[in-house]
Amino acid sequence: MNQLSKPEDRDAYVKATSEDVDERLLSLLSVATAHGKEHLLIKYMPDGYYKDPIGNLWYFIGKRSEHKTMFSSHMDTVHGKLVEAVVPMITDDGIVYGTTPTGLPSVLGADDKVGMYIMLRLLEAKVPGVYCFHVGEECGGIGSSWVAKERPALLNNIDRCIAFDRAGYTDVITEQYDQCCSEEFAKDLAAQINKGMPAMSLFEPDNTGVFTDSANYTDHIAECTNLSVGYFNQHTVNEHFDNYWLEELFIPAILKVEWSELITKRTPGDSDYGYDFNLCTKHGRKEYKDSLKPYNTYGSYGGYGGYSNNDPWSYLTVNSAWGALPSLSPLDDYPSAGLAVIEKALEKQIVAKGSTAFAKDTAQLMQVVQSMEASLATCEEKLNTQAILIANQRSLLGQAEEKLLDCNGKPLFVQ
Ligand SMILES: [Zn+2]
Repeated sequence: MNQLSKPEDRDAYVKATSEDVDERLLSLLSVATAHGKEHLLIKYMPDGYYKDPIGNLWYFIGKRSEHKTMFSSHMDTVHGKLVEAVVPMITDDGIVYGTTPTGLPSVLGADDKVGMYIMLRLLEAKVPGVYCFHVGEECGGIGSSWVAKERPALLNNIDRCIAFDRAGYTDVITEQYDQCCSEEFAKDLAAQINKGMPAMSLFEPDNTGVFTDSANYTDHIAECTNLSVGYFNQHTVNEHFDNYWLEELFIPAILKVEWSELITKRTPGDSDYGYDFNLCTKHGRKEYKDSLKPYNTYGSYGGYGGYSNNDPWSYLTVNSAWGALPSLSPLDDYPSAGLAVIEKALEKQIVAKGSTAFAKDTAQLMQVVQSMEASLATCEEKLNTQAILIANQRSLLGQAEEKLLDCNGKPLFVQ
């Protein structure tokens, strides 16, 4: 995997604008979306999506019979819950980094906003298929586990799931701990993409995949892979992606792939040693339980566990919020409505608390000012009185002096 290096000094990059980076990608990157905040991206999504009860967004392009290809990305990033905004910065070479609004280095969230953006471009080109923008990938594939378990019908008749969520320039992932697609499929797909790629960076099968949502579909979909999308150092403040490679090479190549012509070799569930959602104890994740226990974070990303478990919008919270709602039909909007209601209530509380505190502070300050004004007035009054007394004393002194002069040297007191 080719590695890009960070510019030596920070002057080498400037705030990215829509002239440098597509406006849609810039918008997606500008909002930090820890799991639970994925809904903040909805305003940047094209119309016509279905939102399932866990919050994944779906688009269906083409006839039902053409839905043989599924495209997958995820909306959550590894930002902390309290991080709200990211400022994308760009170098002369088209490498995009992230900073905080105050200019400190920041996780960019190219993982996986770049994947989302690629899917937006495929959607725009009306490439037939099923598109899923997942929630909670960074917390162990919460959105995709839910689909595999609760809505497997959405995966019916799909032959291949293409995730856009891999670092680097060249990987067609064949294994995500267990085999997820056949070597033949990976070679076939690589060959199609490579028609548009330069000789020095050609795609090829790679068996060192880690985990992304497509790993949760290997029991339902024959060929599940993950493609490099040109980001590097994901999950760190050095995260960056190559906008030139993305726009000039990869997206044009991806738009030309004939997805329906790809070989399908693997049988769903094949060569699968039990990594899937229902048996995923092997790598440290807890079993998916019908009781809707929160997922343990994916083993190798152990450091991010806190995001899911301490999250006020955690899976449990969301689910208990839904609990009060009537039974859910597939693809409805209740959960996000529930979330929105909770969020609004919280916001109100924060505003209310804020203004109460402010009012209290203001009242106290007013009291202090008033008492200071009162004591100042008292002082002034006292000063006036003193001034009158002084004037009186002065005039008495003057009278005494006059009398003294009248004496004209005569002794005042004779002993
Ligand atoms: Zn990712």
